Amino acid sequence: MSGFMVNDPSQQDSPSIHPSLLKKVSRQSVITIGIQALHEVGSDPICKVCIANGGSCCNSCRHLADGIGCQQRNTSCTAWLCGFLKFLLYETGLLREWNDYWDQVPGQGFREDFTPEVFFVEKSLHLPDIRNLSEALAADLQELARTHIAIGFILTLREKIDKNIDQLEYFEHDPKKQISLKRSLKMLSGPFYRFQKELHEYRQKLQNTK
Ligand code: SF4
Ligand code: SF4
Repeated sequence: MSGFMVNDPSQQDSPSIHPSLLKKVSRQSVITIGIQALHEVGSDPICKVCIANGGSCCNSCRHLADGIGCQQRNTSCTAWLCGFLKFLLYETGLLREWNDYWDQVPGQGFREDFTPEVFFVEKSLHLPDIRNLSEALAADLQELARTHIAIGFILTLREKIDKNIDQLEYFEHDPKKQISLKRSLKMLSGPFYRFQKELHEYRQKLQNTK
């Protein structure tokens, strides 16, 4: 995790953030906010298809209890996005808000966290209900999984999309790279017909409200 960690009120001398803008939050509250935001954007139908195809990101985790689920929900796993969810937020223009929010949360690790019980943040996280888009993406993924004989086809796709979006962020200031990476993402997401249709309508609605 990169970015400025707003975890110490003694940073009141910081030139970038006025102390009055800092909000005290608990570790548990940011986990709850993250889970609610994922629910709001509609991650569950996508996860359902992914898990049914053997792609659960909780696979072989020691904190996963059979039939019960995660026993150790933490800030790291809540902040982490797989390729599918990253794609959903990227295309809807929400990925930056998500990343900016979690960049403020200290102590993220792998399947565990060292996040203090209480710390300070500046930004909040409010994602809109885009369930129609996530449901469309889930339906596209379901169809791809059904029509492709190759085992794990959608999971390979997930990893490629993930890498592509990471590179888009990394080469943010390189216009040439942006063009080729966007082209490649367009190709990877070409078979998401239902999603593209919903996305087109979503973007048009956004335009009309400006
Ligand atoms: S990898 Fe992504 S889609 Fe699959 S279960 Fe995890 S969060 Fe859900
Ligand atoms: S700790 Fe993370 S990877 Fe492990 S079960 Fe919980 S959410 Fe899944």
